[in-house]
Amino acid sequence: MNGEGLHSVRIETLQVNLGLLCNQRCVHCHLEASPQRGEIMGWPVMELVLKAAKSARCQMVDLTGGAPELNPNFRRFVATLRQERLPVQVRTNLTVLLEPGMEEMPDFFRDHEVQLAASLPCYLEENVCAQRGKGVYEKSIAAIKRLNGVGYGFDPELPLNLVYNPGGPFLPPPQSALEQDYRRELGQRFNITFTRLLTITNVPLGRFRTELIRKKGEEDYMHLLQESFNPNTVKGLMCCHQLSVGWDGTLYDCDFNLALGLPVNHGAPDHIRSFKPKELRTRRVVTGEHCFACTAGAGYSCGGALV
Ligand code: SF4
Ligand code: SF4
Repeated sequence: MNGEGLHSVRIETLQVNLGLLCNQRCVHCHLEASPQRGEIMGWPVMELVLKAAKSARCQMVDLTGGAPELNPNFRRFVATLRQERLPVQVRTNLTVLLEPGMEEMPDFFRDHEVQLAASLPCYLEENVCAQRGKGVYEKSIAAIKRLNGVGYGFDPELPLNLVYNPGGPFLPPPQSALEQDYRRELGQRFNITFTRLLTITNVPLGRFRTELIRKKGEEDYMHLLQESFNPNTVKGLMCCHQLSVGWDGTLYDCDFNLALGLPVNHGAPDHIRSFKPKELRTRRVVTGEHCFACTAGAGYSCGGALV
């Protein structure tokens, strides 16, 4: 807007992609994660992430994937981060909690005071299964029940935020009204509860973009995002206060730049081994057309709507 490019202002959150392995293969996945993906963050990179989070005094280490829980060093990494008193959030797809060997994961999360953000793109079964696969709704509800059972969604120290994304090429409805719908429907149908609903926008990358192209809808969707540009979202954009670490230690301004293979640039260090908080805190962000997904309507961040 001012011709000077977009600049970050701090590193409040370090978002860490533990790998692209996932037990699901959702049609909207911008990272094209799946059970066949072999990219996984190893322990040496995790040690560097730990050092970086401490040196930048991050207020949150946000673990994502793929399904981060499938990384063989997941529990060791979370336990080590928590020992260092770093707050940890895990982005869970819920269904992974029903995979063999994950029976104790809800207790592990609770014991380590891990905060949770869980994908549930609708309160209706047909909409969830259309995006995320057959049987996913039923498993997701079972997983939320398990999490409620250990205190998630009730105890203020154990937040369980649900994440909505649209079922196609349109913008999310207003977050607070949709939260009320989720609360009512999930409460009445299953007696389950959650902390907050976060709405996000589909970013035209990965499988979602492939689907747009297949249905000849890419141009219309890009037009919608650009027409919906809201200047009030810019101050809160997640790249302005967070940094993403890829499974191999490469640094990105956000998870979408990671999906595009666009590392941090404009002279700032682009790998965790050369992490320098001072240079990265106020770096110039690498932007592109996909950024219009973050600035459309009420805006998009990992914490939901921006305005
Ligand atoms: S959207 Fe999430 S749960 Fe679905 S395939 Fe991608 S990483 Fe896995
Ligand atoms: S897509 Fe663009 S605007 Fe959105 S977080 Fe990434 S760099 Fe920032």
